[in-house]
Amino acid sequence: MNYSRFLTAASAARNPSPIRVLTAILSKAPKSLISLAPGAPNPNTFPFKTASITIENGKTIQFGEEMMKRALQYSQSAGIPELLSWLTQLQIKLHNPPTIHYPASQGQMDICVTCGSQEGLSKVFEMLINPGDNILLNEPVYSGTLQALHPLGCNIINIPSDENGIIPKSLKEILSKWKPEDSQNPTKKTPKFLYTVPNGNNPTGVSLTSDRKKEIYELARKYDFLIIEDDPYYFLQLNKSRTPTFLSMDVDGRVIRADSFSKVLSSGLRIGFITGPKPLIERVILHVQVSTMHPSTFAQLLISQLLHQWGEEGFLAHVDRVADFYRKQRDASVEAAEKWLSGLAEWHVPTASMFLWIKIKGISDTKKLIEEKAIKKQVLMIPGNVFYVDSSAPSPYFRVSFSLASPEQMDVAFQRLAQLIKESL
Ligand code: PMP
Repeated sequence: MNYSRFLTAASAARNPSPIRVLTAILSKAPKSLISLAPGAPNPNTFPFKTASITIENGKTIQFGEEMMKRALQYSQSAGIPELLSWLTQLQIKLHNPPTIHYPASQGQMDICVTCGSQEGLSKVFEMLINPGDNILLNEPVYSGTLQALHPLGCNIINIPSDENGIIPKSLKEILSKWKPEDSQNPTKKTPKFLYTVPNGNNPTGVSLTSDRKKEIYELARKYDFLIIEDDPYYFLQLNKSRTPTFLSMDVDGRVIRADSFSKVLSSGLRIGFITGPKPLIERVILHVQVSTMHPSTFAQLLISQLLHQWGEEGFLAHVDRVADFYRKQRDASVEAAEKWLSGLAEWHVPTASMFLWIKIKGISDTKKLIEEKAIKKQVLMIPGNVFYVDSSAPSPYFRVSFSLASPEQMDVAFQRLAQLIKESL
């Protein structure tokens, strides 16, 4: 892969920050080294001394004095080593990426911890997009992605999708206006990447099938574009087995995968990670060096200690319990929708995520209904238009999140909504 052709001038021009490089060297230095180099503050002056955090089943995570000093200090931009090594093993177990043993320059798998997957994604977009570049995605799409893309001035090409995600035939048709060799000619502006949420697309809850992923990956090879696999709902797949990922198929080193702990460990600790070819992950790390510098050391140590205490098996058992919870919530929300909205609206049962995407029959735009009338009736939802590139266009859809409400509350919410729809028809 020729990665340089994908990079913006700003990303290509990034150089390692000399002091950040030193932080990485120091983390491996022997205790005998007397360091007068870094501008790290003296942690003895910090007010926090120790902590004990209770986790499930009465167990605890301890921050003794030494650990606390480390938690309060600067750390490496790519992430703390023990978390990175744990995550590397997890990715190998779950996805077995073909790139794991490739030479570094040929797309060897690498990982970088980020402040939530959102930070990783926005840095990946900034690494790749020049104004006027063509990129591919499937609407409706996560509004956080749209807001990150808009200011970069790219031309977004929507690929039609259905209840099994992106339709490969449609993607093929869109790509047929280019020749495969056009990717070598920058003036032809072949799409640089495809962005997609393969499991439980936010807002539709729709997931891509394994067969479709294979077809899409082959098209990426043919037209030489990257795939950005934004997969925060990977562990919230509500049907029993997990679908193979793009990362697991990535023989070329063209997939950048964004993972998140937000839905299964904590959203407020802000820990996510991106996995992809080393030459690209390195560019993201250089950007981190001069922006956040690194995700919170305390948050990383907390998560790392938890994961080491649980082991892979304990972590996977935990995420299965989380998925069980969301499965029950999904079933309750679908039941409430069937009870109150049958005949008034339509929806697909989501296969992953925490969202129900509902289309109201006979109302072409839900914006006013949801943003004004529903609030007056004490129900809060998101109107469909915010998930489209052109958010001013009317949308008959709205998004319901079934994460927080109890089954009883969902029942009441849909009853109120049904009344409102009837009054508005
Ligand atoms: N991608 C998608 C599709 C999401 O739904 C979200 C969160 N709502 C994110 C990324 C960002 O998640 P994080 O908390 O890991 O930054």
